[in-house]
Amino acid sequence: MGLLNTIKALCVAEKGADIVDTNGNLVAHFGINKAAEGGQRGLTSEYEIMRGDLVNVLYERSLEQRAKIDEEGKEGGGELKYEFGKTVTELAQGDDGVDVTFSDGQKKRFDLVVGADGQGSRTRRMAFGQEVSKEAFKSIGVHTAYYSIPRAKGEGEMAQLFFAPGSRFLLTRNSDRPMTQVYLFIMKDAERLKAVYKESIEEQKEVWAEAFKGAGWQSDRLLGALSSCDDWYAHEVAQIKMKSWYTGRVVLLGDAGYGPSPFTGMGTTASLVGAYVLAGELARNGRDVGAALKAYNEIIRLPVDECQKMPSSIGMFFPSSRIGVWILNKAVWAISSLRIDERINRWLPKSKEEVAWKIPEYPELNLD
Ligand SMILES: Cc1cc2nc3c(=O)[nH]c(=O)nc-3n(C[C@H](O)[C@H](O)[C@H](O)COP(=O)(O)OP(=O)(O)OC[C@H]3O[C@@H](n4cnc5c(N)ncnc54)[C@H](O)[C@@H]3O)c2cc1C
Repeated sequence: MGLLNTIKALCVAEKGADIVDTNGNLVAHFGINKAAEGGQRGLTSEYEIMRGDLVNVLYERSLEQRAKIDEEGKEGGGELKYEFGKTVTELAQGDDGVDVTFSDGQKKRFDLVVGADGQGSRTRRMAFGQEVSKEAFKSIGVHTAYYSIPRAKGEGEMAQLFFAPGSRFLLTRNSDRPMTQVYLFIMKDAERLKAVYKESIEEQKEVWAEAFKGAGWQSDRLLGALSSCDDWYAHEVAQIKMKSWYTGRVVLLGDAGYGPSPFTGMGTTASLVGAYVLAGELARNGRDVGAALKAYNEIIRLPVDECQKMPSSIGMFFPSSRIGVWILNKAVWAISSLRIDERINRWLPKSKEEVAWKIPEYPELNLD
């Protein structure tokens, strides 16, 4: 898309991740994963960009492209209009279109509806029904919360991760910005946490503070800042798995249809690959929207399966006891210092899918 330099300029300054013990002492260090050089070992990629910045880049570029097409007086390209602050409340499928009702009462017919509304997609629920949507949501048994707090002295380019007994870990990321991002992960108390998502943010914060009380390391500081943070967000970590990503003239894209969970680090890849293939197939199949959706559904199956591959036992990152944490820290040290994961990977044969899948070319898209 010709966006690499724009994205590079917006990348955050994270230089890697330190695993620390309860006293803040270094247990292990992971540097930056170079793009296109094997799998992701640590947390930090060569192109580490905040989601909001990436969304803005794509948004601005789409408007620029639309304006360019208008200026050049070229045919096609369609209308491009962003509308914020309203949602779809009803979808009614017809043979050659979808009647859509919006939250402001407006009704309009569209040739195709693309639901790209994230893991908890309401479009998925409306188009496929409550049962299919619920079935698609595969919990991985972990709950997570995110929020920002003022930066502390000494916090900078390195993310810091602390494994705590009680099936929890805490992560901070600053990247030389005024605010530090806090991530809390927990693999217990599922019922209590699930129930509180229906309650107010204040109640959620209380339950999470209780769950992480006395965890160790900087837990007092991180929890102490909870009440004043204004960007709190907590949810159940899941993968979205569906047999088909379209029904009639409604199709799902990205996390709404195949969210792989934050644990894979592949959600953006899957979303962008999906968007590219959907656009390509629509361009290729002209007015035959059905054929385009069928092809999209088939072509992205393999990359989605690859993106959804998870570490075989996510539970190993959530030891319940002190001795468990000690063993995990030793293992993490061995991986970072002796690179034993890479040695093992070199010996393992690549899966057929990994070798077979190549991003398709769509000359019909007339990309520069
Ligand atoms: C903590 C964390 C770390 C992650 N790290 C990585 C990583 O390192 N690499 C990576 O590739 N991926 C990562 N991901 C995953 C990545 O963020 C997602 O896979 C990606 O954002 C999916 O894009 P999306 O556009 O499909 O959905 P989303 O980014 O969820 O966007 C959905 C949009 O739809 C809007 N919306 C929701 N409901 C409605 C509605 N009813 N009407 C209108 N709009 C609606 C939402 O406001 C949102 O703007 C991470 C995710 C998390 C939570």
